[in-house]
Amino acid sequence: NVDRDSRHQYTFYEPQMSFDQISEAQMLIDFKKSIKEHHFKVYYQPIISLHTGKIHAAEALVRWQHPEMGFISPEAFINLFEKNGLITELDHYVLEQVYAFQKKRLDVHQLVVPVSVNLSWQDFYYDHLMDQIMTLTKNNDLPEGLINFEVVETSMAALEQNANYLLEQIKETGARLLLDDFGTGYSSFSILGNYPFDVIKIDRSFIIQIETDQKMRSIVASIIQMAHSVNMKTVAEGVETEQQLHFLQQEGCDYIQGYYFSKPLSEKDYFDFLDADLSWPLTWESRAFNSD
Ligand code: C2E
Ligand code: MG
Ligand code: MG
Ligand code: MG
Repeated sequence: NVDRDSRHQYTFYEPQMSFDQISEAQMLIDFKKSIKEHHFKVYYQPIISLHTGKIHAAEALVRWQHPEMGFISPEAFINLFEKNGLITELDHYVLEQVYAFQKKRLDVHQLVVPVSVNLSWQDFYYDHLMDQIMTLTKNNDLPEGLINFEVVETSMAALEQNANYLLEQIKETGARLLLDDFGTGYSSFSILGNYPFDVIKIDRSFIIQIETDQKMRSIVASIIQMAHSVNMKTVAEGVETEQQLHFLQQEGCDYIQGYYFSKPLSEKDYFDFLDADLSWPLTWESRAFNSD
């Protein structure tokens, strides 16, 4: 493999570099090639409606199928790519993949639900990505609302005044905006008041404590009520147990996402999941009930 050999000629490591630093250096070197050769894979995690018991939407989550280092989780590279100005190219790539997937679903089956794509705060500084969002989502090939966008709450702090203008522009394409990891920042409530989000994603760190902490239960219940009072919907992130699910359902949470229902799925598995879920007349609840 010529490419690989030549790469090793210009990759020098300081002897004292840690393993992490070495792989970070390697990740930066391999980025472009991996984009070109489709080594980044988009996984889809179903988001289930607690009102209907059926799939409501999905979140696109990127993974890196690295030819030498294997399967790399986004935790290992998102921050790195943000620091090095590469994240926007990756988000653009993910957006294109999701767009193609949604189109394929529509062409083949008509059974299709919205997919949300994660945006980095950096994306707001690249006109190119914003243009791309406008072109892709305004393109009549795909009905409005089949691609939505998530912005992490903590990243809102890094945005300047014109973020609101950009968020409004994105919404004009028919996309919805989800405020990701809600509760982890220092200005959660002012963000809700000042920006046009449609959906709050309650961070996993709250959900994980539902079973053990009465105070957390009250906080989660209040977030749901507050969201509804300003006409927003709620997604609970990282739901892993039936007990968490029951609590969220009782408190009127709209949607859940988490291993309890499904891990993020490869494109093929998600495709099959959609076929099975959407064509099946019963909801997962009644299915579970009937199987007792
Ligand atoms: P996120 O957007 O908050 O995504 C949810 C994360 O929680 C995902 O981690 C998902 O796999 C994980 N998760 C879902 N359900 C459960 C559960 O029941 N238990 C546990 N323990 N974890 C669960 P993942 O895929 O590792 O992604 C991590 C973060 O990386 C994402 O957090 C998002 O902020 C970022 N990310 C992922 N894909 C992209 C992308 O294409 N672009 C950008 N800019 N960021 C991305
Ligand atoms: Mg997200
Ligand atoms: Mg999240
Ligand atoms: Mg997160």
